[in-house]
Amino acid sequence: MRVSVFGLGYVGCVSAACLAGMGHQVVGVDVNQAKVDLVNDGKAPVVEERIGELIAEVVGSGALRATGDVREAIMESEISLVCVGTPSEPNGSLCTTYLERVTEEIGTALAERGGGGGRHTVVFRSTMLPGTCANLLVPILEKYVGGTAGVDFGVAVNPEFLREGTSVRDFFDPPKTVIGELDAAGGDAVLALYDSLPGEVFRVPVATAEAIKYADNAFHGLKIGFANELGAVCHALGVDSHQVMDVFLADRKLNISPAYLRPGFAFGGSCLPKDLRSLVHAAQRADVSVPILSHVLPSNSAHLERAVELVERTGKRRVGMFGLSFKPGTDDLRESPLVELAERLFGKGYDLRIHDANVSLSRLLGANREYVETRLPHLAQLLADSVDEVLDHAEVCLVGTRDPAVLSALPHGAGPLLIDLIHLPDADTRRTEPGYMGLAW
Ligand code: NAD
Repeated sequence: MRVSVFGLGYVGCVSAACLAGMGHQVVGVDVNQAKVDLVNDGKAPVVEERIGELIAEVVGSGALRATGDVREAIMESEISLVCVGTPSEPNGSLCTTYLERVTEEIGTALAERGGGGGRHTVVFRSTMLPGTCANLLVPILEKYVGGTAGVDFGVAVNPEFLREGTSVRDFFDPPKTVIGELDAAGGDAVLALYDSLPGEVFRVPVATAEAIKYADNAFHGLKIGFANELGAVCHALGVDSHQVMDVFLADRKLNISPAYLRPGFAFGGSCLPKDLRSLVHAAQRADVSVPILSHVLPSNSAHLERAVELVERTGKRRVGMFGLSFKPGTDDLRESPLVELAERLFGKGYDLRIHDANVSLSRLLGANREYVETRLPHLAQLLADSVDEVLDHAEVCLVGTRDPAVLSALPHGAGPLLIDLIHLPDADTRRTEPGYMGLAW
């Protein structure tokens, strides 16, 4: 199929590259010229496993190109995937500004295109609260196109379930495919797009598809909070929380997926916190009491606070940190709990050095370089390019990454004290060594 993808961020660039890899003809659109240029040069605008090779391959074969020109993209395509950001507003509500703008632009281009290019389907992949498509975006499309949604053009909601760090793998082996369809032909168009992918497909009304994404993210946050609180209590009671979870998770009769249920560090990133915030905000506006959901983020903050307390308890001042992005395998710093931890320690006057191979100044790409330079200049000056620089500096090291280069360099029972934030692969051996502390053991 001929596909346009709007927004070349984490979701859009992975969707665009993977769809091109499946044999579709894809044009990616972004307002950020640096991202457009990177893709056209065959380079990934984000750090993700396998994405660099895939973009080089599909741009090289001519299956993917990028542009800043909405009209040109729409003229050439039969289906558009909208993957622009939906961040939190300061009051926790969902920001729909980018969605509204791109929908206006798509509507304007579709009006110019007319019926000549065949029926077009607009598919929203961005996370948005139930009702956003029907009450906000469909009226914009109808106004600008000058036709009826579901009749003159198709509309669908197709939430994305990728996890940053493994997003290419997740795209080709999705946990499920959810198609919220306004009209059956629009739904059929989305189905045709993912024709060869495995996994169950659910065709549901658009608002149901919007809500499913929130159910997923709220539950992931809840699972992490649950595992971390349980880990903290077990530790206080002298119990190995990982052994507890091994047995708990082995109980397949209750059908518990082990994902997100391992005591580790706090969650973060551009999705779980903002999706929980906007869900709780929407519930409050609707006068619905949600005590469980409204305590997931406070539980997460309490866990981060435990890490600060561990550092304080060591009495050391020179602190090293391994990992800064919101989880291993990505360069995404948005709402990273490690950034928050670094800021808390920096604010308390600790002498900090940080190493994250995906966030080193020499590797930072367009959007993330700008993010670091404008939003985190105080941390940028603390970034170390090498693992040794941090080890040489630190009296106590916080480890929040599984980067093999870091793991192999960490000393055993000598050198700086180690605070393991994520339960390292060799945590069971290390816990018997002097100077090792686990946030989650
Ligand atoms: P992102 O911020 O990385 O990317 C958004 C991109 O959209 C940016 O490159 C921006 O320049 C571009 N953009 C903004 N306005 C535009 C316009 N008018 N035309 C073209 N491009 C425009 O965001 P993301 O992390 O990829 O997330 C996108 C959406 O997907 C969000 O709603 C998010 O909640 C959801 N989501 C994200 C993930 C994830 O892991 N990041 C997973 C599932 C769902």
